Amino acid sequence: MTTSVTIVGAGLGGLTLARVLHVHGIPAAVYEAEPSPASRAQGGLLDIHDYNGQLAVEAAGLTAEFRSLVLEGRQELRLLARDGTVLFKQPDDGNGGRPEVHRGELRQMLIDSLPEGTVHWGHKVSGVRALGGGYEVAFANGSKVTADLLVGADGAWSKVRPLLSSAKPEYTGTGFVETFLYDSDRRFPAAAEAVGGGMLLALAPGHGITAHRERNGTLHAYVGLVRPLEWFDSIDFGDPAAATARIAAEYEGWSTALTALITESDTAPVFRPHYGLPIGHQWERVPGVTLVGDAAHLAPPNGEGANLAMLDGAELGNALAAHPDDVEAALAEYEQAMFPRGAETAAEGAHLQQQMFGPDAPQGLVAEFVAGT
Ligand SMILES: Cc1cc2nc3c(=O)[nH]c(=O)nc-3n(C[C@H](O)[C@H](O)[C@H](O)COP(=O)(O)OP(=O)(O)OC[C@H]3O[C@@H](n4cnc5c(N)ncnc54)[C@H](O)[C@@H]3O)c2cc1C
Repeated sequence: MTTSVTIVGAGLGGLTLARVLHVHGIPAAVYEAEPSPASRAQGGLLDIHDYNGQLAVEAAGLTAEFRSLVLEGRQELRLLARDGTVLFKQPDDGNGGRPEVHRGELRQMLIDSLPEGTVHWGHKVSGVRALGGGYEVAFANGSKVTADLLVGADGAWSKVRPLLSSAKPEYTGTGFVETFLYDSDRRFPAAAEAVGGGMLLALAPGHGITAHRERNGTLHAYVGLVRPLEWFDSIDFGDPAAATARIAAEYEGWSTALTALITESDTAPVFRPHYGLPIGHQWERVPGVTLVGDAAHLAPPNGEGANLAMLDGAELGNALAAHPDDVEAALAEYEQAMFPRGAETAAEGAHLQQQMFGPDAPQGLVAEFVAGT
């Protein structure tokens, strides 16, 4: 295959696709809105699963590099009640089934694995349109490119998706507020103890704190609330102290070891609303264009989105390599596997959200965890 593949978005999905294409000798150009790899903090820890994300790493030929990024011992999981009682605890058994890595380091690993110049930073797509054959991609910086084969890996608000589908992400009813506590073992020992060695879930109906222990005792928390968007909109996140007080008030009566993850944050609280595409989102085959990752099957956080984006990228790359003379066969093969995978994971995610934030929280999830051990 000699046609260059035009990829919009240098997230984990787009970069994995570019890397797998490179492994097969297929050229690709990635257009990314951000001005440079370091221009934005890339979020926290991701557990990369042996049934999806790790398969993509393998297809990318980067297993050794990936292993060097793994934070040992971080697979520990604990589930707490609002008073701090530990209801379930799963130690890190060292099996490596879902090792934790920093998203930014994983992304950099993929960037470093590509030929110089593959990623065109500072290219925010403003619009795409079908030509008689192929597509024109226009950028906010005024430039344009044409593409015979176009892949939207541009996340939730994909500019490529309208070529395939009229679906739009909708707010799910739950939002996270993101906080960080640095050097926690020394400065916030009770919170550090509550989070433990890996990941914490502290749940009650309509409420849920998720936190990870990152490097150097950093606690990275997402404080969840089931509230309408208007409720969050009424909070002035430009006034960190007032916003913190407003969110903390919703957690009144909780253990102070847990509320410290709100009140003691070293960073201003950042609002992260959850959006999702309809479960089972799919489209009829349109020549020369497809989507990977969140652009195709955005779902509220369920621990699978980054893993799926990487697997999509790897499988699309492999399909294009397997059908060098028939791009449409490759795209059809990729989509036929991706659609049900995305739908199944989104449905599982919706169930997880219900268990985390619904009326049975936290006991419903405890029962499932116990049954799964
Ligand atoms: C709070 C939170 C926690 C999460 N935790 C986890 C987790 O623990 N595990 C997990 O597996 N998943 C997690 N996810 C989901 C995961 O982040 C996403 O599913 C994953 O990042 C999707 O990858 P992607 O490559 O499809 O899209 P993205 O990572 O969104 O990458 C898209 C890229 O496209 C670029 N882009 C966007 N628009 C344009 C444009 N117009 N022009 C050019 N470039 C553009 C963006 O800058 C970005 O670099 C979480 C999500 C959230 C919100």
